[in-house]
Amino acid sequence: MFRTVLIAGFLALAALPARADALTDDFRRFLEADVWPQAKAERVPRAVFEEAFSGVTPRLDLPDLNLPGRPAKVEEINRQAEFRSGADYLSEKALAGTVNTGRAMLKRHGALLKRIEARYGVPAPVIVAIWGRESAFGAAKIPENAFAVLGTKAWASRRKEMFRAELVAALKIVSDGHLRVSQMRSSWAGALGQPQFMPTKFLAVAVDFDGDGRRDIWNSVPDTLASIANYLARAGWRKGVAWGGEARVPAAVSCSLEGPDRGRPLAEFAGAGVTRVSGEAFSARALGASAHLMMPAGRAGPAFLVSPNFYVVKDYNNSDLYALYVLHAADRMSGGAPLVTRFAATERLTRGDVARLQEAMQARGMDVGGADGLAGFKTRRSIGLVEETAGRPATCWPSKGVAALL
Ligand code: CA
Repeated sequence: MFRTVLIAGFLALAALPARADALTDDFRRFLEADVWPQAKAERVPRAVFEEAFSGVTPRLDLPDLNLPGRPAKVEEINRQAEFRSGADYLSEKALAGTVNTGRAMLKRHGALLKRIEARYGVPAPVIVAIWGRESAFGAAKIPENAFAVLGTKAWASRRKEMFRAELVAALKIVSDGHLRVSQMRSSWAGALGQPQFMPTKFLAVAVDFDGDGRRDIWNSVPDTLASIANYLARAGWRKGVAWGGEARVPAAVSCSLEGPDRGRPLAEFAGAGVTRVSGEAFSARALGASAHLMMPAGRAGPAFLVSPNFYVVKDYNNSDLYALYVLHAADRMSGGAPLVTRFAATERLTRGDVARLQEAMQARGMDVGGADGLAGFKTRRSIGLVEETAGRPATCWPSKGVAALL
């Protein structure tokens, strides 16, 4: 009976093109013709498919849509947006909530975290810091209907193919019995639950740690924390290896040497005069290990020597500032000191300004990691090379002065 009503409702909605908005009509045709065959091939029951999209209309308010029958107005980046540095992202004010609540969570869930740490080899403060950053330790609302968001993006976003795979994965999560359709809540970007996993990532790394047979990263703290730990373990977290720390980098060591692909024995950096800000000597073990220079604001902010574990956190969210926030917050929960070097207040550039710089460097054959208006490590070190080629000291940071050199 229940199922009959659902099917009838679904068909009724699909069969009213004259009255329905033409876009909704096109959306439902897409679901039926393009998504259903793929879902069926993945053994998603028809009833799950119908329930998931019952009453669902496309979310035309999502960013980056390219709607059928309408002129493309997709802007790859907001060129007017002010380009942000780390000053706000890593301010003491921004860190305080994560660190203070994080300490309380470490205490409250201490026994659980100990078991998770033993199983996955990831330190509890790192897990807790990610939890805090992603969903305010589970307190954040996860407001959207995942099927409406993912369905719309699979239908009309810039990365349709990617989102179609995510949509089918979301259907599989329901048909595998982890959640009911009504419980599938996501962010506006389609990220699920307290760890904010995309659905394919959920299927790959989410775990049931409370033993009830369901991987419930929406409501279960054990499942949430163990799933975050399993993500990092699968991404290559090395047990017992420190992530790194703040360093002093003398002018003779160029900021253009940074990056995950520029690892070298820490002893080489130490030999060139790089030291820890605390003044403490590097341990013999650290000196023999591989290290990377990481300068998230070039010479306009603090510098770091990091281990490959830093880049494991970047796998979770591909931003140097995100990884630094998480790992520094984890240190602070364990009594670590604040950053010594401040992020300097630099001139105000827009993302459009940075994208133009990137395009000019690309025209010279330099790898800037794409003209996205963000100063990632490839852009920063390319800027450093432009400056050094012009006989200037490298800042590795976008500025009007650098634009003039191009
Ligand atoms: Ca569970």
